[in-house]
Amino acid sequence: MAKKLGLRETYAAMTRGVNWTPSYVKEEEAFPYHQFEGIKIHDWDKWEDPFRMTVDNYWKYQAEKDRRLYAVLDSFSQNQGHLNISDARYLNAIKIFLQGVTPLEYMAHRHFMFISRYIPGPGTRMAALCQSIDELRHTQIEIHSMSPYNKYYSGFHSMRQMHDRVWYLSVPKSYFDDAVTAGPFEFLTAISFSFEYLLTNLLFVPFMSGAAYNGDLPTTTFGFSAQSDESRHMTLGLQVIKFLLEQDEANVPIVQRWLDKWFWRGYRLNALVAAMMDYMLPKKVMSWKEAFELYFEQQMLDGLFPDLARYGIKPPMGVEQAIKEKEKISHEVYWTLYSFGFAAAFNTWIPTASEQDWMTQKYPETFDKYYRPHFEKAQKIADQGGRFFMLGLPQLCQVCQIPMLFTEPDDPGKICFRSTTYQGEKYHFCSDGCKQIFEWEPQKYVQSWLPVHEIYKGNCGGPTVPEVLAWYGIQPGDNGEYQGSVDQQNWANWHKDLATV
Ligand code: FE
Ligand code: ZN
Repeated sequence: MAKKLGLRETYAAMTRGVNWTPSYVKEEEAFPYHQFEGIKIHDWDKWEDPFRMTVDNYWKYQAEKDRRLYAVLDSFSQNQGHLNISDARYLNAIKIFLQGVTPLEYMAHRHFMFISRYIPGPGTRMAALCQSIDELRHTQIEIHSMSPYNKYYSGFHSMRQMHDRVWYLSVPKSYFDDAVTAGPFEFLTAISFSFEYLLTNLLFVPFMSGAAYNGDLPTTTFGFSAQSDESRHMTLGLQVIKFLLEQDEANVPIVQRWLDKWFWRGYRLNALVAAMMDYMLPKKVMSWKEAFELYFEQQMLDGLFPDLARYGIKPPMGVEQAIKEKEKISHEVYWTLYSFGFAAAFNTWIPTASEQDWMTQKYPETFDKYYRPHFEKAQKIADQGGRFFMLGLPQLCQVCQIPMLFTEPDDPGKICFRSTTYQGEKYHFCSDGCKQIFEWEPQKYVQSWLPVHEIYKGNCGGPTVPEVLAWYGIQPGDNGEYQGSVDQQNWANWHKDLATV
């Protein structure tokens, strides 16, 4: 009888063992996409598989995790668990997650599948295959975890349409469109390393702790379910970088350029997370500033980059600016969301007095001086029965697509504008980082689908606000002020009923 193979041999037989050398097509014809990037690979066997996973094991683990998750979701729905969250305001963070992040999971699924076909190395292909299936599962479990809320709350109903059309969602969408239209090695550097390794903790950890603090059992549970995948994805990200750097010295400047670009793009994307963390969690976990210091400055800048220095890799472009901005971005982004909230598929509000005091304590240098006055003005208007909205269309950054809301790195009182001219046209940017990214690949970014420009061009349902909102898929009550909104009134009524039972 044949001897049973050990784990390592089984793994080798079932992954690299099924690789073959093409005989009737040339190698370049079978794998055409990575060659124009300039990356040189001499020996694919040097690829260390960061996790030894075979497909049969993979199914077993994932099925077990799914069983647990769906048991929690069932009991949450049956017991009206949504009534036990901290406050209905909290769900606005989850609406942004569903509209903004979940569709990215699906794009990641599609493109990792593409990578698993088109990268020449068999070890890398196997890793990309597993990640592709993970990402499809993430899409599904996120939709399933958040769908119980769709029965009772606004803003959860049209994620696909919204993701493709709504102005603030063009920020995450354009980020991923940029990645999937790059070559396969750039995609891996962008998503597996720059996003999953450098920045994902800033998105997932505060989010999942936020969900736990605010009684959101479905999100907490899917977070745990996704976490073990996430640690595999992070390992893949680091392996990709080290492999590219070790294969050929000529790869170093190419990888550095990608890191510079994708750190800045990923960091800008996280500006939305900053606003959610500081403003949308009724029970706070930590401030954006604290999360940035812990998960980026300590773990990445001090922990990881000294390690990469031996390959000749420097910390990415824009790091100094990001550190300066930690005092500011959550406030600047939330104020913009509040001001343009009539056109958003979630509600915004003035932070309560005790929440504003929390900001003062967490942001002693900036909150009282620069941001509290905005909310005092908004409060004065609210006291007279009004609501402050900015009824115009903002200028957008050509690269990150965020409205021009960021201030000069050294002056929180002055909006930061940058511009450049390309083929006789002027283009505008929120920062030196976005301007630099444009100048590296202007042919790519002149094609940006900028929501504001598209409204002016007549491509978004019509010239009036109601027409644009209808085209976005935003229904009355999804948008605008939280106080007096459908969600707030329902929440108050349900809890009044509960109190009298
Ligand atoms: Fe994912
Ligand atoms: Zn920008």
